[in-house]
Amino acid sequence: MTLSETHETETQDAARALFVELTGREPDGLWSAPGRVNLIGEHTDYNDGFVLPFAIPHRTVAAVGLRHDDRGRVRVASTFAEEPVEVALDELDDLFPTTTGAEPAVPEWAAYPLGVAWALRQAAADAHGHGFRGIDIAIASDVPVGAGLSSSAAIEGAAASALNELWSTGLDRTALARVGRRAENEAVGAPTGIMDQMASMLGETDAAIFLDCRSLEAQVVPLGVAEAGLAILAMDTRVKHAHSTGGYGERRASCELGAKIMGVPALRDVSTSDLPRAQELMDDVTFRRVRHIVTENQRVLDTVRVLREQGARAIGDLLVASHVSMRDDFEISVPELDTAVDAALSAGALGARMTGGGFGGAAIALVEQDAVTTVSDAVAAAFAASGFRAPALFTVTPSAGAHRDA
Ligand code: ADP
Ligand code: MG
Repeated sequence: MTLSETHETETQDAARALFVELTGREPDGLWSAPGRVNLIGEHTDYNDGFVLPFAIPHRTVAAVGLRHDDRGRVRVASTFAEEPVEVALDELDDLFPTTTGAEPAVPEWAAYPLGVAWALRQAAADAHGHGFRGIDIAIASDVPVGAGLSSSAAIEGAAASALNELWSTGLDRTALARVGRRAENEAVGAPTGIMDQMASMLGETDAAIFLDCRSLEAQVVPLGVAEAGLAILAMDTRVKHAHSTGGYGERRASCELGAKIMGVPALRDVSTSDLPRAQELMDDVTFRRVRHIVTENQRVLDTVRVLREQGARAIGDLLVASHVSMRDDFEISVPELDTAVDAALSAGALGARMTGGGFGGAAIALVEQDAVTTVSDAVAAAFAASGFRAPALFTVTPSAGAHRDA
């Protein structure tokens, strides 16, 4: 049994035990969905652009069972939360979408699974219009929370997969990703794009998902990281971010402004050759936000081409260019992320960049397998020298997307 299988079993056991504690019966099944690392393509998703994430071995497991009473209630519990939360299914349409500025009707964590139940019911009601039984959901996870590794998409994906099967709603993976995003946007109030949910739903072993966020067309791109003698080191700074507040929404607004000034539906429609004109038309800050998105889209396309033509060993410079663009143009990095990237590169990493929405969270480094320890030690030492809290350092192998476990 590999280490990741051990973890998976522990998480499954924890979800099952919580379900039994909550309900006094066994669940109908276990479903799980992974977190993700974005290899490249940051903040491009809500600009209708390109991203290249992969699913990681860390997973969120939902132990779920239909309720055999007639009360039509949904109950959610998580090993992360003190108390379960219970509402009537019919109440969901009153709770969500959450009105901006209103007191949240349920604790924030519960808005993820309950938002999924709400969005799934709505998506299915559009399609079929049939009834739903009450349900109990118990959640356990080994995805680091708020680390930019998308514990949010993992909880959404696990809940959506379970409910889709138990409620026989028959949505495909892309539709379930949309359900997750809707929960995150409208029930939690975090204005994030579709990347995380698609990566968590569609991930495949040793491959990244090349996603066109306009058409939602996804291609599986083999990474061959291990084959090339390489590893991907995740460097969690343990600086927490929150996407429902602050910078994330501001960046989104700047992108929308930039697209409006350029007279296009989204920054996807601006190419690198349009940048001089963009610079003439807009203020410096908006221009730099636009330049990040436009060059980042190009870097995703370049990375896919380089992976196919030359393999993983050749993408290091693109990763570094992406980090520099996020640090200087999009301004979503923090000193801890820059320290992780710089220390990894100085210690011999082929490439490194922050990953996820920014303002904290994790960075990744592409390293020789036999240099994982050297690079990890260098990053830990650089954090200590800067007086930062010790980072969490672990390798991530591209792994399978959401599925039923038992
Ligand atoms: P990230 O996706 O990078 O981990 P987010 O802020 O998008 O960070 O999502 C983290 C939030 O998702 C948590 O604060 C919590 O509300 C919710 N969440 C994630 N995993 C779980 C879990 N296992 N149980 C309960 N809530 C969870
Ligand atoms: Mg998230």
